[in-house]
Amino acid sequence: MSKSGAECVKVVVRCRPLSEKETSEGYERVVDMFPERGVVEIKNPKNGEVPKQFTFDAVYDWNSKQLDLYDETFRPLIDSVLKGFNGTIFAYGQTGTGKTYTMEVKCNELQEEIRDLLAKDQSKRLELKERPDIGVYVKDLSSFVCKSIKEIEHVMTVGNQNRSVGATNMNLHSSRSHAIFIITIEHSQVGPDDKNHIRVGKLNLVDLAGSERQAKTGAMGERQKEAIKINLSLSALGNVISALVDGKSSHIPYRDSKLTRLLQGIYSSV
Ligand code: ADP
Ligand code: MG
Repeated sequence: MSKSGAECVKVVVRCRPLSEKETSEGYERVVDMFPERGVVEIKNPKNGEVPKQFTFDAVYDWNSKQLDLYDETFRPLIDSVLKGFNGTIFAYGQTGTGKTYTMEVKCNELQEEIRDLLAKDQSKRLELKERPDIGVYVKDLSSFVCKSIKEIEHVMTVGNQNRSVGATNMNLHSSRSHAIFIITIEHSQVGPDDKNHIRVGKLNLVDLAGSERQAKTGAMGERQKEAIKINLSLSALGNVISALVDGKSSHIPYRDSKLTRLLQGIYSSV
């Protein structure tokens, strides 16, 4: 819990509408959503069992709009980034569930290999380093000074075009990489002392790779190895978040993957 009493970690579920293809092929929804109660219910229980229900901090159904999520869920986080705090939004879910749609960004990719999606030379691989003053960071990562939302969007578009996507049986544009887009916001304000004060906050937008089990994707060989790595980094992320939420663990396993190592500075700051 933060000092203000607000939760440090919120878990929000969004269910996308069925696509035209899914509808025409006769697929049906498998969940009911109750946004007013923050509840998701699994439909069609077996043998007359009571339907399973799960409660979250917020629940968005197929009618939800980007702005609904932004206003209710993202805006408070962004407000605190403007005040100089750090915040992170993760999008987690199976390929095709709407992570990228919800985040509307895809940028600096990292996995076992770290690539700078904004670099001129896309073949370069970057290294994770650590310094006592700033913690874990990616050496030689590009950054751009932006003076408007339009300029930020342009940077995102370039990164987006460079992001590698590949085909699996699940989704032709399935992303098999994690992408992190870091926005550092400097905000200057005249204080009660009549002096200019600069506040620096970081907003990390993390578009995670698909969470599907590799057996289901029909991936073979190199693809299968890649899927195993993705599952390892996602479970490492899950373990770190559980340990942080639990609050009793003296050991937080940041070192289990590059993803969690890089995000370590962010977690320790919430
Ligand atoms: P992921 O990144 O999880 O693999 P995508 O964001 O690419 O999934 O979404 C898969 C497809 O579903 C895309 O065609 C996207 O446009 C569509 N989609 C996702 N979420 C929504 C939504 N809330 N409303 C309408 N279409 C959506
Ligand atoms: Mg995606």
